[in-house]
Amino acid sequence: MISKIIAEDLVVKVKKAIDAVDKIVIVAHVGPDGDAMGSTLAMWHYLMTIEKEPVVIVPTPFPAFLAWLPGADCVLDYENHKEKADQLFAEAELIFTLDFNQASRMAKMADAVINAPAPKILVDHHLYPGDFAKVTVSYPEISSTSELVFRLICRMGDFSKINLAAAECIYTGMMTDTGSFTYNSNNQEIYTIISELLKIGVKKDEIYRKVFNTYSADRIKLMGYCLYHKMKIYPEYRAALITLDAEEQKQFSFQNGDAEGFVNIPLSIAGVDFSVFMREDPEKIKISLRSQGSFPANKVAAELFNGGGHLNAAGGESYISLADSIQKFEDALPNYKAFLE
Ligand code: 5GP
Ligand code: MN
Repeated sequence: MISKIIAEDLVVKVKKAIDAVDKIVIVAHVGPDGDAMGSTLAMWHYLMTIEKEPVVIVPTPFPAFLAWLPGADCVLDYENHKEKADQLFAEAELIFTLDFNQASRMAKMADAVINAPAPKILVDHHLYPGDFAKVTVSYPEISSTSELVFRLICRMGDFSKINLAAAECIYTGMMTDTGSFTYNSNNQEIYTIISELLKIGVKKDEIYRKVFNTYSADRIKLMGYCLYHKMKIYPEYRAALITLDAEEQKQFSFQNGDAEGFVNIPLSIAGVDFSVFMREDPEKIKISLRSQGSFPANKVAAELFNGGGHLNAAGGESYISLADSIQKFEDALPNYKAFLE
């Protein structure tokens, strides 16, 4: 039995909203990851089975390792399809916003979504949701938005409408947002849900291989380079930092998503509980933070890098140079010593 986490009144509101319309747009956050793509596409497949007209629109293209997801070829990215997307937002009767809870996480797509006349339904698992949605389904204790989508569909009485494609998308989001069930994954119901997905026909080992074992040689070389030349350990603070500037990315023919997961690697070093990865983008420094135990990666992200996220997995951005961002991080490390276990 899976517990009824989502409040009944929210389930009723979502069901009514879906029943009343045909044209539904589903959006996720900038730099969509496995959970953003998994949850939006799962919702897309579900809405198709109940004969709605859904479309998934993401602010920026998704990484190549998610291109195999069923339905990914139908996803529009705002960067390359702005005109079409703007029209779809304007015509939408309902907009689902999945896997983020602040409008700013939609980057350049934010205004178009927020100003669209359609009511929004937010489904997400991050802390502190904003108030842009008519219905807010926010459960930070749930480890992925994909799991929440599964729970929501079941609660609407439609478990039988979760087809294999939707199940594969849900499993992918659950797997990627928990580091293949190595963090945020102690809730036993996760495995009850996985068992249901396996019954539908999901081949979990195959999904792992498709997501994690399809990297380019350049990415693996880049990983080696980062670990050998660019990883700095701060033993006193049980911390590690890896940085990558624009020139280095060019050298390794950097593709969207190539550095995905690098930030997790230093956590496997004995004595490291906090790991940070900084990458220089044309307009900003993109920062990923990971921790284990009770060290609050989201607090550091919020206080230093205009970001946020979960206790053990957070992100942010910095608008000063890479060198200055590194300095800022190193200067602040002593302030967080008290949070080490
Ligand atoms: P990643 O390091 O994989 O980009 O992000 C990890 C988690 O940190 C995401 O699931 C998201 O919760 C959060 N996150 C990433 N970037 C940002 C950001 O710029 N702002 C906020 N508030 N959260 C972020
Ligand atoms: Mn997520």
